[in-house]
Amino acid sequence: MRLSAYFLPVLKETPSEAQIVSHRLMLRAGMIRQASAGIYSWLPMGLRVLRKIEAIVREEQDRVGAQELLMPTVQSAELWRQSGRYDAYGPEMLRIRDRHEREMLYGPTNEEQITEIFRDLAKSYRDVPRMLYHIQWKFRDEVRPRFGVMRGREFLMKDAYSFDLTPEAARVSYYKMFVAYLRTFARMGLKAIPMQAETGPIGGDLSHEFIILAETGESRVFCHKAFLEKDPLAQEPDYEADLEPVFKDWTSHYAATEDVHDPAKAAELGDDLITARGIEVGQVFYFGTKYSKPMNATVAGPDGQPILLEMGSYGVGVSRLAGAIIEACHDDAGIIWPESVAPFKVGLVNLKSGDADTDAMCEKLYGELAAAGVEALYDDRDERAGSKFATMDLLGLPYQLVVGPKGLKDGVVEIKARATGARDTLSPEAAIARLTA
Ligand code: ATP
Ligand code: MG
Repeated sequence: MRLSAYFLPVLKETPSEAQIVSHRLMLRAGMIRQASAGIYSWLPMGLRVLRKIEAIVREEQDRVGAQELLMPTVQSAELWRQSGRYDAYGPEMLRIRDRHEREMLYGPTNEEQITEIFRDLAKSYRDVPRMLYHIQWKFRDEVRPRFGVMRGREFLMKDAYSFDLTPEAARVSYYKMFVAYLRTFARMGLKAIPMQAETGPIGGDLSHEFIILAETGESRVFCHKAFLEKDPLAQEPDYEADLEPVFKDWTSHYAATEDVHDPAKAAELGDDLITARGIEVGQVFYFGTKYSKPMNATVAGPDGQPILLEMGSYGVGVSRLAGAIIEACHDDAGIIWPESVAPFKVGLVNLKSGDADTDAMCEKLYGELAAAGVEALYDDRDERAGSKFATMDLLGLPYQLVVGPKGLKDGVVEIKARATGARDTLSPEAAIARLTA
């Protein structure tokens, strides 16, 4: 993409309405635009990041055997009356009437809808176990939408649902999702700690929230410092095998959100206890028959007798993650995207647009990067070098490839790694080899 032609409204000034750094940087880097309170448009730069986050979420869901479908955003009130949650959900639910005065709602989550689908279409024990997920917009009329996409009213969520015949089998599904979550967040460069959590309006009695430690987090959390050293990607799990040992290993140390915090237990940790604030990026629930029972969701067992389905649900805040990653990865100059979710891998900086040799070299490099499938943003504008550097630092692309007339006289260009600031001077060929490796 050429910056001169890109729809990228970069802001020079720091927007005054943004209280936290990720919100400020997303506005300044031209990623999002508020439509109304807690509702955002994703501009081209922001959407690229959102899509990358989605892709990682999708890969890890698929890896544990979950299957993607897509349910609608608008649901009928009738469905929610079957579970008893229509009245229980309260003012966070956006309730709508259609032209026939039928009561509808904009889905805040999809337990009812998936339970109905599975109840009506899965017939026998042979159709179980299944894990189904979708990545779809949700609406919750939050009292205090704030922090940009971190607490929006409309937000993108991955929500998965598991169906099993027995509580033991449902735990197997829970462990799979738990492991998928560990890997999902780690691949985005995040240290997300699984913490014991309250189940809230979703219900059930086994739940973990995946929390990123950050001062701007809205929850108070407590955990053993051993979590800071653990790396979910250190070892590829054997998905065919029982994942309970992995789950046991990750839950062997104390980690709890405020709602279920046990001060006596935490005190035993002594100096190993971390008390911090955290951002919830995902939550997993096992809730047994909470929905299948009132909605009469059963399958026929081998003897023809109905078996009530055991269920769990598993959410990831896809749009919240864009903000959460920035909270975790930035410096004074701007965003520092982990390569896995970066909107472009390389920012190509032309230090002297209009200079024939520099232009020609930039065009050549830009073409070679494209040919190798490397996403590059080419700053071909007629701007001062200082301003171009500042823009690239703000945007936070992992690598800057800097081309100027002085270097070209010596046959060299420069690569700067955004995260470390490390600069390397090398030949254009070596630069391309490095960036396409
Ligand atoms: P919170 O406690 O932050 O309100 P929740 O526990 O109500 O969230 P869940 O029902 O667990 O949310 O939803 C799954 C995931 O969706 C959450 O872990 C979070 O990452 C994301 N999420 C929830 N509410 C919002 C929101 N208002 N804006 C953006 N993301 C959200
Ligand atoms: Mg939650």
